[in-house]
Amino acid sequence: MVENKRLLFDWRAKSFVLNRGKNGKEHAYCYCAKHFKFVASHTDDKPNIVEVPTIVAARCRSLHERISFHHNHPALTPLSHGDLELLGRFPGLLEISAHTALGASFRASRAKRWKSSWKRRFDTLDAAFTFQSLSLQALPGFVGSLEMHTFNMILARARLIEYDFRLDANLKWQYDCHRPLVDQMVKDIADLGRGG
Ligand SMILES: [Zn+2]
Repeated sequence: MVENKRLLFDWRAKSFVLNRGKNGKEHAYCYCAKHFKFVASHTDDKPNIVEVPTIVAARCRSLHERISFHHNHPALTPLSHGDLELLGRFPGLLEISAHTALGASFRASRAKRWKSSWKRRFDTLDAAFTFQSLSLQALPGFVGSLEMHTFNMILARARLIEYDFRLDANLKWQYDCHRPLVDQMVKDIADLGRGG
C-alpha cells in the first residue's frame, strides 16, 4: 500500500518537473513521504539550478520529516555536487531525484540516519575524487555526465548514499567505454570514505 503511494507520488513528481521543464528551466516538486502529501513546487526560471523551496528547507531541518525532492535537469546530467550536498545539510530530506527529457533518472538517499559527520566524509571523498579525476579528464567522454555519475557511484560504494539510476543511451555508452577504469576508481576512492 505504502509502496503504491510512493510509486504514485514519484510518478506525479516526475511528470510535473518534466512537463514544466519543457521550457528549458529547472523545476522542483516536493512531497511528504510520511503522509503522502504535496508540499511545494518551485522554479527560479534558470536552466541549471532550482533552489529548495523555503517551506521545504524549513521543514527539512527536523529529523522527523521525510521529504522527497524531485527536479529536472535540462542539461541531461546526473545529480550534481550541489544536489548531493543537500543530503548533508537537511536531516529531514529523505532523497533527491533528478529526471531528464531523455528518460534518465537519478536518485540519491542517505544510506543511514542523518549524522553531522556525513558532510566531512563527503568532503574527503570529493577531494580524493577531484584529485584522481584530473588524470582521467584527457579521456574522451569522461568529463561532465560520466564524471558526475562516477562520483555518485563512489558515494554509494562508500555507503553515504543509496544510488538508483537509469542512464540514457549516450551516458550508458560512455560508461561502457570506460567501465574497467571507472569501476576501479570507484572501488579505490570509496575505500577512503568508509567508516564514520
Ligand atoms: Zn540538480
